[in-house]
Amino acid sequence: MFLGCHLSISKGYLAAGKEAIGLGANVFQFFTRNPRGSKAKELDLEDVQALLRLAKEEGFGPLVAHAPYTLNPASFVPRVAKITRDLLGDDFVRLASLPGAFYNLHPGNYLDKDPQAGMDQTMALLNEIYPKDSKTVVLLETMAGKGTEIGRSFEELAYMLERFKRPEMIGVCLDTCHIFDAGYDIVADLDGVVKALDKVIGLDKLKAIHLNDSLNEMGSRKDRHAKIDEGQIGLTALVAVLAHPQLSGRPVILETPNELPGYAKEIKLLKDSLAKGQGQKAKVS
Ligand code: FE
Ligand code: FE
Ligand code: ZN
Repeated sequence: MFLGCHLSISKGYLAAGKEAIGLGANVFQFFTRNPRGSKAKELDLEDVQALLRLAKEEGFGPLVAHAPYTLNPASFVPRVAKITRDLLGDDFVRLASLPGAFYNLHPGNYLDKDPQAGMDQTMALLNEIYPKDSKTVVLLETMAGKGTEIGRSFEELAYMLERFKRPEMIGVCLDTCHIFDAGYDIVADLDGVVKALDKVIGLDKLKAIHLNDSLNEMGSRKDRHAKIDEGQIGLTALVAVLAHPQLSGRPVILETPNELPGYAKEIKLLKDSLAKGQGQKAKVS
């Protein structure tokens, strides 16, 4: 199992790796640059190499690089499209130094157009900027459907995945808060949701999981993360996601509203609950 949380790389990559270990994690996610989308620091290749060595020694799972979330790849506004193209393009160059890391992004907002137009625009942009020789697997995140967000259903994600020019280099990241908010009942029917995911997108396309509780009820389309067991999803259902045989093996990242001690506590809580068999269905004899 690869379980970790979102960490800052402001003190460097190696420092983040050490921080993860201190929290009991064996994977982590980081923003490629300030999440609001400003200029990124020059990449310190020695620091990156040191992290990669540490990650290998410690048996880390694949790292997850998260694109700045204020970008809108679906935008038709030329100025926004240009900024998005430049920043995402620059991220692909930088991620070439982090082999094996996923590049997770929010598919975008269709604003005054429609979902179809937004999805087509996002995929046109990604197809344009994805470097020919890139080895980075792009992940589209499942979204809550807040406002005009695209990627709020498995069907929309499948539609976008099918349009990527390098089909083997794209997948999805499943965010538990987001899909619950989008109306997928992972509390009462996790098996049904996993089946739908497999049927529509394919489980081979699931590369990472964001494990978050949700402040709001199922279908609320709000996207407000809660701490583990302090939201509407609850500990048992979240542990069931961790324990699900068809979901296991992917990096699981907490994006709960926590400082470092809170993350350490949640990682321990999840591991202990898993060990106690919570989240597993009673065996039918
Ligand atoms: Fe995200
Ligand atoms: Fe997320
Ligand atoms: Zn979210």
